Amino acid sequence: MEAAVRKPDEASGVLLSTCTTIGIGGAAPFIVFPRSPGEVRAFKASAFAAGEEYLSLGAGSNLLVADEGIDRRVMCLKKNMGKVMFSAGGSVVAEGGTMLPRLAVLCGLSGLSGVEELAGIPGTVGGALTMNAGAYGRSIGEVVEWVEVVDVAGRLHRIEACDIRYSYRHAACPVEGMVVRAAFRLAASLSDAIFARMKEINEKRRESQPWGERTFGSTFLRPDGNVSAGELLERAGLKGFRMGDAAYSRKHANFIVNIGNASASDVLRLIARGQEAVRAMAGVELVPEVKMWGAVHA
Ligand SMILES: Cc1cc2nc3c(=O)[nH]c(=O)nc-3n(C[C@H](O)[C@H](O)[C@H](O)COP(=O)(O)OP(=O)(O)OC[C@H]3O[C@@H](n4cnc5c(N)ncnc54)[C@H](O)[C@@H]3O)c2cc1C
Repeated sequence: MEAAVRKPDEASGVLLSTCTTIGIGGAAPFIVFPRSPGEVRAFKASAFAAGEEYLSLGAGSNLLVADEGIDRRVMCLKKNMGKVMFSAGGSVVAEGGTMLPRLAVLCGLSGLSGVEELAGIPGTVGGALTMNAGAYGRSIGEVVEWVEVVDVAGRLHRIEACDIRYSYRHAACPVEGMVVRAAFRLAASLSDAIFARMKEINEKRRESQPWGERTFGSTFLRPDGNVSAGELLERAGLKGFRMGDAAYSRKHANFIVNIGNASASDVLRLIARGQEAVRAMAGVELVPEVKMWGAVHA
């Protein structure tokens, strides 16, 4: 009997506002949700043969997509690629679509410490490794052992962490592509202590950042020097400042929130206003941390 071939999990004309945490963005012509690194390879190889490329999507928690949408196909790992495997000696292998809060909880339950600071970041392992996401003194690049990347032609590469240069919100990897799996080297610890640390950090976040609101996290990177982007924006009078249905949060000025039906152009106008105000006040050039897809214009 022939083995059953599973139909690809895919969809056309998906509104990316449903795939981003800020809830903004027009449609993508085609989106595919692979179930394994093998499927990622096969999809990429056939697109490459047809002269096309996929954009990589995680949880859309650091993305601003144009209101008009995009004309590229998208591959998203969050839906079907969240397997996590533990092995003796503190090594953990997670698929690229694993959500960081879930990874942190699973590691906590297994008595493994090293990712609890990342528990409040609503992104995937793949997105976080690409951005070198971090919080409360820990960035993901510090605990990774190796990363598996599928390049544009569908070839799989395993890259050791020592060959990747991690810096603030940046990872310089010798191979570009979709992060499909990564291994982390964590330290043995007591579950109670790990969960206590997670709770402490999440309480700090809840006090100082918008919680449960539609946002893409920090709008701007931390500028050089001691003052944060949030402080500069607040001093320039932008805390709570609104354009259309987008506003700098009243709780933390470096977070833009969608308070209704905000468009990408509302957000871009707000970004430009924030940059102008901080430039005029302090001579500092704020650089967006958020990634932008499509022809985003104010
Ligand atoms: C409430 C809130 C709080 C946040 N707090 C923090 C914080 O404390 N620290 C922090 O660093 N960030 C924070 N962020 C931002 C965001 O969560 C991180 O940047 C996160 O790592 C993005 O992951 P993602 O899966 O959502 O990526 P996406 O937003 O989907 O994509 C971001 C970039 O990564 C690429 N990408 C996504 N998946 C892959 C993959 N598998 N392989 C290759 N490239 C990929 C995309 O093409 C894009 O360029 C916060 C965001 C929110 C909404």
